[in-house]
Amino acid sequence: MNIQEKVETYLGKPVSQASDKEIYDGLLLTVQELALERERTDSKKKLYYISAEFLIGKLLSNNMINLGIYQEVKEMLERNGKDIGRIEEAEPEPSLGNGGLGRLAACFLDSIATLGLAGDGIGLNYHLGLFRQKFEDHLQKETSNPWIEEKSWIKRTDTVYPVQFRGLNVNARMYDIEVTGYNNKTNKLHLFDLDSVDESIVENGIDFNKEDIQKNLTLFLYPDDSDEKGRLLRIYQQYFMVSSGAQLILDECTAKGCNLYDLPDYAVIQINDTHPTMVIPELIRLLVERGMEMDSAIDVVSRTCAYTNHTILAEALEKWPVDYLKKVVPQLMPIIEVLDDKVRRKYEDESVAIIDRNDTVHMAHIDIHYGFSVNGVAALHTDILKNSELNNFYRIYLDKFNNKTNGITFRRWLIHCNPRLTALLDETIGEGYKTNAAELEKLLAYKDDDRVLDRLLEIKYRNKEELCAYLRETQGLEVSPDTIFDIQVKRLHEYKRQQLNALYIIDKYLEIKSGKIPAVPVTAIFGAKAAPAYVIAKDIIHLILCLQEIINNDPEVNKYLKVVMVENYNVTKAGKLIPACDISEQISLASKEASGTGNMKFMLNGAVTLGTEDGANVEIHEAVGDDNIFVFGASSDEVIEHYAKADYVAGDYYENNGAIRAAIDFITSDKMLEIGCEENLTRLKNELIHKDWFMTLLDFDSYKETKEKALAAYADRKAWAKMALVNIAKAGFFSSDRTIEEYNRDIWHL
Ligand SMILES: *Cc1c(COP(=O)(O)O)cnc(C)c1O
Repeated sequence: MNIQEKVETYLGKPVSQASDKEIYDGLLLTVQELALERERTDSKKKLYYISAEFLIGKLLSNNMINLGIYQEVKEMLERNGKDIGRIEEAEPEPSLGNGGLGRLAACFLDSIATLGLAGDGIGLNYHLGLFRQKFEDHLQKETSNPWIEEKSWIKRTDTVYPVQFRGLNVNARMYDIEVTGYNNKTNKLHLFDLDSVDESIVENGIDFNKEDIQKNLTLFLYPDDSDEKGRLLRIYQQYFMVSSGAQLILDECTAKGCNLYDLPDYAVIQINDTHPTMVIPELIRLLVERGMEMDSAIDVVSRTCAYTNHTILAEALEKWPVDYLKKVVPQLMPIIEVLDDKVRRKYEDESVAIIDRNDTVHMAHIDIHYGFSVNGVAALHTDILKNSELNNFYRIYLDKFNNKTNGITFRRWLIHCNPRLTALLDETIGEGYKTNAAELEKLLAYKDDDRVLDRLLEIKYRNKEELCAYLRETQGLEVSPDTIFDIQVKRLHEYKRQQLNALYIIDKYLEIKSGKIPAVPVTAIFGAKAAPAYVIAKDIIHLILCLQEIINNDPEVNKYLKVVMVENYNVTKAGKLIPACDISEQISLASKEASGTGNMKFMLNGAVTLGTEDGANVEIHEAVGDDNIFVFGASSDEVIEHYAKADYVAGDYYENNGAIRAAIDFITSDKMLEIGCEENLTRLKNELIHKDWFMTLLDFDSYKETKEKALAAYADRKAWAKMALVNIAKAGFFSSDRTIEEYNRDIWHL
């Protein structure tokens, strides 16, 4: 049977007579059938990648690419008068992740399968995922994002595990999503869920009764935790995930003949950030329940679990009051106390204890003491962990600490999202780079080939035209591909410093108003969700939306400058924005961005980075050299010193720097207050003058100067194309295939 016949069997009618939605459903079932044929036969040892987030994005096209049927299906659809782009539109995007961390987990699953490794994901089946972002009155509003339809990538299984909370016993049911490697076998993403969860308890936006655990447990990713009920719900979710995951792991290993003392020969568990930390005490508890001595159980589990640290922001390193844990999972507390007791007997240093003097449990400390590997996610980040943030631990466990610089899957972030560039690469350097990313370097041979450089410019232009059409259709915004597309898309956080970009835009606006006209017009594009309870982040979105309104409607200015805030930034939108980007904004305060992966996606698609020496930007800089990146701002050492001495005073910059003062004052100018909310804008202005925890003003001058250089460089089209070419050619290191090879070589040993 050919593809068309297969699809039509599911459709029950000819493709030409089916709706886009029907065709999507038919293709989904076809892909699932083909993926199943490639299911791996179990090997002795298996990796379990356990994560609260898997930001997988839409799956249809990627699965078709990995199965090798994408081109065939695309042509078949064309023959029947259908457009694959329209079919893709019919797929709802699951939002099972927040940002980079969740997207990393998704890229890793793709690479694990592509490398032919036995590795499954374990997570939760959030019915509504992360909220969907809407803009109303220049403010972010949150609504729910249901994504599970009758025909869906998740498959209900008969695997059910009991999970016990205090005063509440529930059954966790396993759902599976097939993860097919590129020309390789199929692994699984296991998502646990509760049959009794009820979406109808959600009212006006994303509110619901936080205490009705049977009905709310897997509704949302990161439910609001600004009150105790919300924080308890997160503990319910985390324990539900790890308890079912731990039972699955023990079941699978036992089925393969493991006697549980040999668990590390059968399983390795990668703990993605601290959310799944309770898998350590839970596994110990289960092993003891099955008859193992406590000390042996601790030893076995410690040789099975490895931990990835994703941040040095204190607020993100989870700590739970003992009280909370006792309210939800009292059975774990005696075990956590034993783990703490062992640590305290060995080390006097209070700072490495698990339960501190305030009766708070430090989840990361459990991972570091009772895992066999601790890794950071970029060279600089790992250095900061070793030398400052986790130095007390590093001195105890020199050998546990290691670096695994993040990566991205080229199947999604090149082959799928940028077919034009993919075609050019195929023609010039062959297809080897698709499985061996280092081969991208072959492109350097074309550095002085005018024909290839012109093609690169043409591809970028076409991608920009497509983005323009998309912005017009989805948000009614008019922008021109003949402007520089300067893009900052990522979660909204003060450390990522969207506010620095916004201040620059105000400065530019004021310059244009005073008659200083830019050489090449610029379109500044943002996309970012703010956590619903993160007030200042929402104020920054408000500022950007007000600027969009004022600037785009000012005929004196909009010829030279426009602002775009893309609504509901997600994986699908990333796939449309990134291939159209000229300048990639990676402007976090040095030392604060653990790695970043957006930076890698942009580079791979021929954007030039404007960035600080932070996270993986440092490694991008090393790869492309000084001439192919625009670097600015204080170094991480300088920043760390400012924090240590507490000597950064934002107010001094406001007082002494005229451009900074004018830009900040504009935030509460009459023009802004005509359309904006005084409360929000005043709060943001005061934050910048009196707090500015992430040192926006410190880097303003340096940012402005370097950005002007980047904008000026754009005018020399040939030189710019060369920079783009070098960025693409040097992106091979940032393939998640390379990252996963390193995890396997140093940690998993599959
Ligand atoms: C890659 C990606 C991110 C991470 O971006 P950073 O710039 O590394 O923070 C966040 N969200 C989505 C949808 C992504 O695709």
